Amino acid sequence: MDYLNHEFKVLIDGKLRQAARGGLMDVINPANNKVIAKIPRCTSEDVSVAAAAAKRARHAWKNTYIGDRAGLLVKLAGIIRGHFDELVNMETAQYGGPLSKTRNFDIPAAIGEIEFMAGLGRSVTGKTISADPGARVMTFREPVGVVGLITPWNFPLVTAVSKLAPALIMGNTCLLKPPSCAPLTVLKLAEYAVEAGFPAGVVNILTGPGSDVGEAIVNHPDINKVNFTGDSYVGKRIMELASACVKPVASELGGKNAMIILDDAEIDSVVETAVYSAFFNSGQNCGSPSRFFVQSGIYDEFVECFVSAARGITVGDPMDPKTMMGPLAYNACRDTAERFIEDAKKAGSRMLLGGSAPSELRGGAYVMPTIFEVYDSRQELMQEEVFAPVIGVMKVETPEEAVELTNDCRYGLCASVWTRDFRLALKLIDRLEVGTAWINQHLKIVPETPWGGCKESGWTKENSILVFDEYTYHKHVWINLDEKPHTFWEDKI
Ligand code: NDP
Repeated sequence: MDYLNHEFKVLIDGKLRQAARGGLMDVINPANNKVIAKIPRCTSEDVSVAAAAAKRARHAWKNTYIGDRAGLLVKLAGIIRGHFDELVNMETAQYGGPLSKTRNFDIPAAIGEIEFMAGLGRSVTGKTISADPGARVMTFREPVGVVGLITPWNFPLVTAVSKLAPALIMGNTCLLKPPSCAPLTVLKLAEYAVEAGFPAGVVNILTGPGSDVGEAIVNHPDINKVNFTGDSYVGKRIMELASACVKPVASELGGKNAMIILDDAEIDSVVETAVYSAFFNSGQNCGSPSRFFVQSGIYDEFVECFVSAARGITVGDPMDPKTMMGPLAYNACRDTAERFIEDAKKAGSRMLLGGSAPSELRGGAYVMPTIFEVYDSRQELMQEEVFAPVIGVMKVETPEEAVELTNDCRYGLCASVWTRDFRLALKLIDRLEVGTAWINQHLKIVPETPWGGCKESGWTKENSILVFDEYTYHKHVWINLDEKPHTFWEDKI
């Protein structure tokens, strides 16, 4: 399946068009490395035009009744629903997420996210403050203005709308830059935004390399804030650039998430969740567990069942509905994973399962579910994000040791504790340095609950009512009721 006959366009100032300089980029299907589409390669010139349009549009959009803003978002969600099958196939073709994921999660979640944000955003309020009887004091939630949204490829459409929908309902105008390797469904969103009737300049969607278009968004003086999801190293680069103009950056970055499995864990459910959450989407989930700290009493049983269940994962063509795990998003991701595998072997870890893909899959960016037994939690495999189906399992003696090892990492996105002892689990969770902690669950992320990390995983929240903090600032308004102005000149004592 390819889209070479479709002319993908960016959306700038209400118009679907090609990049100003006419440049194009290839989009490659990672299952077979064939070019499936050509997309506009924008430059900083296009960013400037889009930023100017977004700036012009921002006052009118902010002053549009919030119910009308919500109405446009709901219409957008409806248009996506009308193109469901097309988007499912496109999502799978561009980054290799199997149909089981794109059909059951990506597209329904994108629709749900927009509808949820359109409704929830209408309930956001300011506060009144009873500070002084001679005044009425309140805060208003003001939109930030023009926001730059930069998104990754592992959930292309969902991540894009998880930023776009709350930004728009709060009255911001947007420049959205999707990932270069998987931009197609977001470029379809550009078409749908026009069809839904968003005013010119409110939604701008541009494609082009992060080092060019992404950095131009970060540097542009008319863009008031950047909201970024992606790799921690890229996040640091963006923060460095943004600091030059004191631009706030919301950041959802990498993770090196732990599953802590204690002796009394319920073995069937922990194994089922471990396999699913580590290998779903080929492990390319910011919340996937990639470090397993397993207490000695259950260690052998867990490892045996885990390896056996992971061996049963069907790896192959993501377009086959029976496939559970497709390729990685592109060849460089596979090469990185293979380097981690070789380095882990050199570091003395024992490979229990996996490694490189068999010859029949070598035409794509495939890596098999790979499990290492690890003896040192400071080794690279246990400290750095691989973003692939490559994980380490390590034996620990006590729950406290597991918590210490979990915290001994620069990332702090999420972790889970598996035990029947809820009192103990709650005490352990108190000490975990993460943004999300589950008990007897992992990778459960829904729009109603906040998502985001701490430490080098970033500090922003996506989802839930908390997301609106990222797209508003609090304006404090003081209304004086006293006739006599207040000063500190008089001694009141
Ligand atoms: P990248 O950081 O490589 O890319 C993310 C986006 O940033 C892309 O649109 C990319 O553009 C752009 N970009 C790249 N370089 C720059 C730059 N110098 N300035 C501005 N923008 C730039 O991430 P991936 O797409 O590889 O996604 C995987 C990463 O995302 C993982 O680390 C994962 O953990 C993280 N992630 C975190 C989540 C969370 O909630 N914490 C959720 C999902 C993913 P281009 O594609 O053109 O290079």
